Amino acid sequence: MNPDMILIRFGEFTIKGKNREKFDKRMTEQVRKALSAFPRAEITRAYGRIYIVLNGESYEEMAPKLKDIFGIASFSPIRRSASELEAIRSAALDVMRALPKQPETFKVSVRRVDKEFPHDSQEMNHLVGGHVLRGLPGLKVNVREPEVELRVEIQPEGTYVFSSVVTGAGGFPYGTNGKALLLLSGGIDSPVAGYLAMRQGLELEAVHYHSFPFTSEQAKEKVIELVRRLSHYTGASIKLHLVSFTDIQTAIAQSNHNSLIITLMRRSMLRIAERLAERREALGLVTGDSLGQVASQTLSSMNVIGRTAELPLLRPLVTMDKNEIIRIARTIGTYETSILPYEDCCTLFVPKNPTTNPNLAVVEKAEESIASLDAMIEQAVATTETLTITPDWRTAVETAGQDDWF
Ligand code: ATP
Ligand code: MG
Repeated sequence: MNPDMILIRFGEFTIKGKNREKFDKRMTEQVRKALSAFPRAEITRAYGRIYIVLNGESYEEMAPKLKDIFGIASFSPIRRSASELEAIRSAALDVMRALPKQPETFKVSVRRVDKEFPHDSQEMNHLVGGHVLRGLPGLKVNVREPEVELRVEIQPEGTYVFSSVVTGAGGFPYGTNGKALLLLSGGIDSPVAGYLAMRQGLELEAVHYHSFPFTSEQAKEKVIELVRRLSHYTGASIKLHLVSFTDIQTAIAQSNHNSLIITLMRRSMLRIAERLAERREALGLVTGDSLGQVASQTLSSMNVIGRTAELPLLRPLVTMDKNEIIRIARTIGTYETSILPYEDCCTLFVPKNPTTNPNLAVVEKAEESIASLDAMIEQAVATTETLTITPDWRTAVETAGQDDWF
């Protein structure tokens, strides 16, 4: 049975009084965009909720799209009836009959919002429950631990009957908590960090450092594919800044500070990212660092690397276990791309014994000793290439071009 409507509930942001209007509006826009392929669906905003009247559009096709919208706490497919006893009873029985698996126990929870309705919630629990029990012999009531909770909301404009509450992505609507740059490698972690940052309401642009010709065209394609996956959650597109890191990396590799190579590279990456962030009016840098994972992600390394940046460094994965990260990567569909074998710039010239405990003064001295490091950083910023990646990038690849902000 295709439901008549969908009720969408918002997440934690509804508690933030003064921003509420902005969030509500943003949510409605996001839902509208995500459901543009369902022209008959009517989307209406109610206080802290959204209702979708399906008008025959398929709930099964719509549900996966709703699950990807940040800010949706949960949603329910709804059978709508007139606010009139017999109509409500028959809708309730229909909803129970349409369950994929018939339960042994259930309970009815009626909420009477329309105070004009002649029966109160308690009476209605019995009036509806009794009708369902008569219609489905063998079914029992269990008030404490029912297998199915049949909910009935009596509103003045009509009554909503539903039994299923689907968990949504949660978080905040995309872009309602400011803008940051995501340092995106081709690995498993940074796309997941990007997803979590976006889910918390951050608008993102991505920065990727490549060492062409040491890194291949396929490595670039891989990063584009990752951004394409992530762009899916924005309702629009994500800008990808491709930065040539070849000269800097070569200079660092030749500088005889073997155990510091990674530390030095990371610091230069952050310095470039900060310059780009300033141009793009972003107020934070997101990385895929996870504490202890590799030499450059010890607390001591994070300290020395992070000190080169003034912007807040956001590390959504910092306390996450690798298995947790992989689980998210699989759900958001980036894992399969991330494990493709193409070289990332950081996997080239990797020292045998990278330090896990760099000394800030030594690192700063090493940077001073690399001739024209500052100039190379400026050059890398100046020659950055920017692409705008949409979910249908593959088909749009011919027409998508370089952005003209540089
Ligand atoms: P990932 O799986 O994201 O590559 P990782 O565990 O392999 O992470 P590192 O390779 O040490 O860790 O990189 C740490 C973080 O630095 C990455 O998560 C990413 O945010 C950033 N980073 C590393 N390499 C690049 C790159 N080539 N371009 C952009 N950012 C990078
Ligand atoms: Mg990596």
